[in-house]
Amino acid sequence: MSSDAKKEARHKLAMEKQKGSIDASIAAADVERGVGILLTGNGKGKTSSAFGMVLRALGYDQKVGVIQFIKGQQLSGEEIYVRDRCPDVAFYQMGTGFTWDTQDRSTDMAAARTTWEQALPMLRDPSFDLVVLDELTYMLSFNYLSEDEVVEAIQNRPPEQSVVVTGRGGGTRLREIMDTVSEVKDIKHAYNAGIKARRGVDY
Ligand code: ATP
Ligand code: MG
Repeated sequence: MSSDAKKEARHKLAMEKQKGSIDASIAAADVERGVGILLTGNGKGKTSSAFGMVLRALGYDQKVGVIQFIKGQQLSGEEIYVRDRCPDVAFYQMGTGFTWDTQDRSTDMAAARTTWEQALPMLRDPSFDLVVLDELTYMLSFNYLSEDEVVEAIQNRPPEQSVVVTGRGGGTRLREIMDTVSEVKDIKHAYNAGIKARRGVDY
């Protein structure tokens, strides 16, 4: 056998093995219910991944809610798109109050509470297939919202509903109760090389 043919045969064997193990885990996964997903870590890709799932769900005409716990200085493209062109998506962004610049804890806490009160009815409504709680982790790390209350609402959501939480940190409790937890690792970011945040990519 030539060395190319040997390589080919080895590759084929490896692929067959991999397929076998993937098929086995697909067959073993037989529980049908909504999933809880935590996207955390210091790298770029948490919110954009959450919005990727929003698109996926919309592709199947599912009902989606998006609640954002931080008011950006600048609306991101996906926010503009969802707000203006997806009237079926229940979209709420923390209004006045919290930004990274505010110094007023009581205003921030009130804004966090008001925003959480938009999320709560969604987390109780079985007609929602997907609820995104973008940047929620900060509300927990600053103690603006009670972790017990948040955990309880996520755990008691309708069984068919999936929920995605994004933000750095996240805390042990959230990591425990979610079914899928991904940590996006910061290897490098263009910003640190002096490249300006890019429309359509970073916001
Ligand atoms: P994205 O919205 O792009 O998916 P993210 O949700 O993972 O990012 P956030 O912490 O919410 O990250 O910050 C959003 C903004 O900050 C984006 O403009 C993103 O490019 C930028 N950003 C994310 N991670 C880093 C990093 N490690 N260094 C510098 N800027 C970052
Ligand atoms: Mg984000």
